[in-house]
Amino acid sequence: MAAYKSAIPTRRFDAVIVGAGGSGMRASLQLAEAGLNVAVLSKVFPTRSHTVAAQGGIGASLGNMAEDNWFWHMFDTVKGGDYLGDQDAIEFMCREAPKVVYELEHFGMPFDRNPDGTIYQRPFGGHTAHFGEKPVQRACAAADRTGHALLHTLYQRNVRARTHFFVEWMALDLIRDADGDVIGVVALEMETGECMILEAKTTVMATGGAGRIFAASTNAFINTGDGMGMAARAGLPLQDMEFWQFHPTGVAGAGVLITEGVRGEGGILINSEGERFMERYAPTLKDLAPRDFVSRSMDQEIKEGRGCGPNKDHVMLDLRHIGADTIAKRLPSILEIGHKFANVDATKEPIPVVPTIHYQMGGIPTNIHGQVVTPTGPEKSAKVVNGLYAIGECACVSVHGANRLGTNSLLDLVVFGRAAGNHIVGSGLKAKENKPLPADAADFAMNRLARLENSTGTETVQGVANDIRATMQKYCGVFRTDEMLNKGVEEIMKLDERRKHVSFKDKSMVFNTARVEALELDNLIETAKATIVSAAARKESRGAHAQDDHPTRDDDNWMKHTLWYSEGNRLDYKPVVTKPLTVDTFKPKPRTF
Ligand SMILES: Cc1cc2nc3c(=O)[nH]c(=O)nc-3n(C[C@H](O)[C@H](O)[C@H](O)COP(=O)(O)OP(=O)(O)OC[C@H]3O[C@@H](n4cnc5c(N)ncnc54)[C@H](O)[C@@H]3O)c2cc1C
Repeated sequence: MAAYKSAIPTRRFDAVIVGAGGSGMRASLQLAEAGLNVAVLSKVFPTRSHTVAAQGGIGASLGNMAEDNWFWHMFDTVKGGDYLGDQDAIEFMCREAPKVVYELEHFGMPFDRNPDGTIYQRPFGGHTAHFGEKPVQRACAAADRTGHALLHTLYQRNVRARTHFFVEWMALDLIRDADGDVIGVVALEMETGECMILEAKTTVMATGGAGRIFAASTNAFINTGDGMGMAARAGLPLQDMEFWQFHPTGVAGAGVLITEGVRGEGGILINSEGERFMERYAPTLKDLAPRDFVSRSMDQEIKEGRGCGPNKDHVMLDLRHIGADTIAKRLPSILEIGHKFANVDATKEPIPVVPTIHYQMGGIPTNIHGQVVTPTGPEKSAKVVNGLYAIGECACVSVHGANRLGTNSLLDLVVFGRAAGNHIVGSGLKAKENKPLPADAADFAMNRLARLENSTGTETVQGVANDIRATMQKYCGVFRTDEMLNKGVEEIMKLDERRKHVSFKDKSMVFNTARVEALELDNLIETAKATIVSAAARKESRGAHAQDDHPTRDDDNWMKHTLWYSEGNRLDYKPVVTKPLTVDTFKPKPRTF
């Protein structure tokens, strides 16, 4: 195949960031303010990235409502993640939290306020005082539109810092040179269909999650796992992909999220008998137990016949007792979502809800500076991939372990977005030269496009994509068994074959949006394969991975991170970092709430 390099234009930057969500824009701000030449690519206008949909809050132990400290936050995060999280990264995140939240406040983020002017904080699932004794108010909120406030604040700061935005540009593939270093990306301008090479001394993946590999999801349509796909095709592993969080309260039938902040403000879950069933499962934290725990309890109620509605397939979220005034002040969007998606007035009627796919704990493996690392040798020591960072939901620095606590993702975005930015600036990037571009730099991506244009197959993009979503939903849900997972692996592998025969019906008239969806399909399938293959191999129950055939946590054999490689569809493992930076290890204990 011909080398495409000369045929397509090239632009050169100090840093290219793929993704303009909270993590990408926090990193780009740090770089642009340090005087680096930064490009940020996004499939959508930056303020439409999925971060905008975050409702409930960002976690930090400010202690504005009652006593709190970072050490309790760290304990909750380690335990909430069922001891799979890396304790060095968790300590770093929880210690940094107050600083990054005050920084956002100084950037102008419009947080809700207490009467004394301090930032208002609400309770959230799994956040406690005194190591699990009682719930604590740790979630800093801007009504139920926290992500909206965060993203707009960061966008405005970036405009001021002169970050270059490439809006509606889709990154297709990473460019790696003969040394394995990453030296930029090939990207497609969605409006024109033209391709370009963006050369960079450093490339940062900030592409968000892949919730769209499941049929029922709270995620935006653009969350197709492009970062995971690009990493997998570039030969890099994906870590802990079997761990997917089901959010307990997606609107039944619609998938739209009802924030945990509703339960933080006093909302409760009830079954068909009107019983507040969480009191039975989690006597201390009740409706505010971690999400994996609440989702499984809901599923159990439904399985045992206490579901609501004609098909007994959901439960109810009751917030009538909170009062119309508080709902209007603290949860205005929920009132609107209730009206639009469930046809109920939430001040007078409960909202029908079911556990719905929400968040991926796994992703591209990194260290606490955001550098992408591949574990090598018998000790699995971390080898840095030069020129590549990953941050936000597409990354796995492993602060969330096997289950993320609510509000810890927005925190993860700003802590590690900022840390990656600082590390890049500190590496003296400005003075370095861009590495030379190999002649075949764009070939891999361009061949992928050419395959699509020339395909004579009979498969359609939507047909295969819908079947991936249905398969993942059916075989990789809240409860899993060996039989389901093995069957799921078989089905996903068949879909991987079908995906190769996708073509456009009428080749004379292909819209660029259809081309984009076809390219996204390649990313959906990599993420789905990583998820189901990793899940089928893990013979224990931990956090969000609930395996009926292996119902207990097995620390002797399975306290380790999964690494999945697309090439050869193979698995490897690496140890969990149990040693924090400065404090003693939190040793695994049974997880009750
Ligand atoms: C409905 C909802 C509510 C939530 N509420 C909360 C909450 O209250 N608190 C909390 O802590 N967490 C919450 N979360 C989780 C949290 O919001 C996300 O994990 C987080 O916002 C992800 O941010 P990100 O920067 O990683 O990516 P995103 O915000 O998803 O942004 C991804 C960016 O990558 C770009 N992109 C993707 N692929 C490509 C490509 N190929 N080329 C170019 N650009 C690309 C997109 O255009 C976008 O700009 C919520 C999530 C959802 C779905």
